[in-house]
Amino acid sequence: MSIVLDGSPASEGIVAGPVFVLDWGLPTVAHESIADDAIEDEIVRFDEARQWATERLQEIKEQTEGRLGAVEARIFDPQLLMLQDLEVVDGTARYIRENRLSAARAFELRMLELRSMWSRTSHPMVLDRLNDLEDLMIRVLRRLLGMNDPSDLDPLQEAAIVVAQNLTPSLIVQLDPDNVLGIATDHGTRTAHWAMLARSMNIPAAVGLGGASKRASNGQQAILDGRIGRFVLQPEEDERNRFEARRKQHSDWEEEISAIAVLESVTQDGQYVELRGNLDLPGEAERLLARGAVGIGLYRTEFLVVGRNSMPNEEEQYEAYRYAAEAFQNGAVCIRTFDLGGDKFPMSLNMPPEENPFLGWRAIRVCLDQPDLFRTQLRALLRATAHGDVRFMIPLVNDVEEIREVRALLQEEAEGLRRDGIPFNEGYKLGVMIETPAAALDAAELARYSDFFSIGTNDLIQYTLAVDRTNTRLAKLYNPFHPAVVRQLHQVARVGRAAGIEVSVCGEMASHPLGAFLLIGLDITALSMAWPSLPEIKRLVRDVRMEDARSAARKALAAPTAHDVTRCLVEGIGDSVDLSVFSGRWSLSLPA
Ligand code: PEP
Ligand code: MG
Repeated sequence: MSIVLDGSPASEGIVAGPVFVLDWGLPTVAHESIADDAIEDEIVRFDEARQWATERLQEIKEQTEGRLGAVEARIFDPQLLMLQDLEVVDGTARYIRENRLSAARAFELRMLELRSMWSRTSHPMVLDRLNDLEDLMIRVLRRLLGMNDPSDLDPLQEAAIVVAQNLTPSLIVQLDPDNVLGIATDHGTRTAHWAMLARSMNIPAAVGLGGASKRASNGQQAILDGRIGRFVLQPEEDERNRFEARRKQHSDWEEEISAIAVLESVTQDGQYVELRGNLDLPGEAERLLARGAVGIGLYRTEFLVVGRNSMPNEEEQYEAYRYAAEAFQNGAVCIRTFDLGGDKFPMSLNMPPEENPFLGWRAIRVCLDQPDLFRTQLRALLRATAHGDVRFMIPLVNDVEEIREVRALLQEEAEGLRRDGIPFNEGYKLGVMIETPAAALDAAELARYSDFFSIGTNDLIQYTLAVDRTNTRLAKLYNPFHPAVVRQLHQVARVGRAAGIEVSVCGEMASHPLGAFLLIGLDITALSMAWPSLPEIKRLVRDVRMEDARSAARKALAAPTAHDVTRCLVEGIGDSVDLSVFSGRWSLSLPA
C-alpha cells in the first residue's frame, strides 16, 4: 500500500526515485563524570572540537560561496557566531569545571538549555536558529565522541530522494545536487534557510511531513511533489500513473514557460497588466527575468541582513541595489527599506523579545528609531537611483508623520550626496506599503505624501482579521477573500486612482488565481509575485476579460461572506482559465 504524506511545499519540482534516509541525529551522550585532574584536558578537548567545527564550517561556507554566491554563504554566520558565543563556551567550561562533567556531556547540557530557552518562541527566524543550534550540537558532539565526520560520509551512491527529520544549511550544501533528486523532511518550514538553499539549488523539497523519516527506509521507491508538498512512499500503480501525468504536465509547463515569458501581459479585451517579481535573494533577479518579470515590485532588503552579525555597509548595499537596477534597466525596481522585527531578527540589532512582535517594534518603526542604520540604507538606495528606475518603498506605514520623517531624512542624505558630488536621480519616488487597516482607511491622507502605493496583502490580511500569518492552527481563518479585506483593497485602489498614483499589490494574493482575478477587477493592474507564479499569472491575465473581472469584483464587493466572495470569483472566472497549471496548490472548489 502506498503511504501518502502531506506537508508543505518548499521547493518546486516533482521527482520519483529511491529513498536515502539521512541519519543526522543527535548522538547519545553517556552521563560521564571526570576526575579533578582531567578537567583542564577536557576543556582543551572542547576547545579543539570547537576549533575543528569552526574550520569545517568556514570550508563549507567557502564552497557555498563558490557555488551559490556570497549572500547564500552568509547563512553559516550564525553557527560560526554560536561557536564563539560566551553563553556556549563559558557555560560549557563551567559545567566541566564545576560539575566535573565530560566535555561532551557538559556541551550537550548547555546546548539543551539554550535550546529550551529559544524554543519558547514560535517565530520562524528564531526556529531557524534552533536548526543552526542543533546542527552545531551534532557536529561538535560527534567530534568529541570520536565518531566520523558526517560530511565525509559521502552517502549517496545513486541519485535519491533524501529523507531526514530536518535539514540544515550546512548539510544541504554538502549533498551533491547531481545525486539529490529531492528532499523530504518531517519538520521545517518554507522559510527555513535550508529550504531557501534548496530553491536556489533547484532541488524539489517538501517539509512538515510528520513521520517521513521514521516510515521510510533506504532503497524504497518514492515520489516527491515539491509543488504541493506531497511525499508518497512505495507508490502503487495508481499513484505512479498520477505521478507520470503530473510530471508530464509539469514538464510541458516548464517548456511553455520561456514562450510565455515573452508574450504580452494583456487581457482578452486589451488591458495591460504589469507583472513584476518579488526578490528575496539577489540571485533571483535572473529567474525573474527568465519568467518575464518587467520589474521588481518588492525587494525584501532585510534578507541582506538576517543571519549576519553585522549590518551590511553602504557600499555593499549600494552594489546589491545597483545590481537589481541594472538587471531591470527598463522596469521599475521597488526596493523596500528594511522590514526588520516581526519574524525577521538580525543578530546585530539585539532586538528585545516582545510579547507580540507582529504588533511590536517592526519595519519603519525600527528604522526611524535607528537613524544611523536607516540613513546608511537611504544613501545606498539614493545612489542606486542613478542606475535605473529605483523606487523607495516603506513597510508598515500607519500615518503621514512616518512618511514625513522619511522624506526629511532622505532630503538630508540627498543633500549630503549633492555636496560630495555623488550622482543620484533628483526625481526619486517614495511609495508606501499599505499593510494595516489604519493605512487603508487613511489612504487618502497618505496619498498626498506618497508617489505610489503597494499593498502588502500578507500583512493587511493578518492585521485586518487579527490572525497571525505564521500560525498554522489559524491557517483556515487567514482568508484573503474576507469582505473586510476586499473592501479595503477597493478603497485603496479608488483613492490611488483619484490621487493619480500607481497602486500595485506585492503580497501572495497577487499569485493566487482568484486573487489576481479580483485585483484586476478592482483595477489594480500592477502585480508582483515570486518567480514561480509569474508565468501562471501571465497566462491567467491573457485568458480573462477585464470586463468579466470588473463585473465579478463588483459582485464580490457586495457579497456578505468570504464564501460568497469566493463564489462570485469562481463564477466570474468560469472556464476561461486553465487552472491545471496551478497544480492543485490552490483549492478553487467552493466548500459545500
Ligand atoms: C506583505 O505583507 O504582503 C508583504 C509583501 O510583505 P512581507 O510578506 O515581506 O511582510
Ligand atoms: Mg508585509
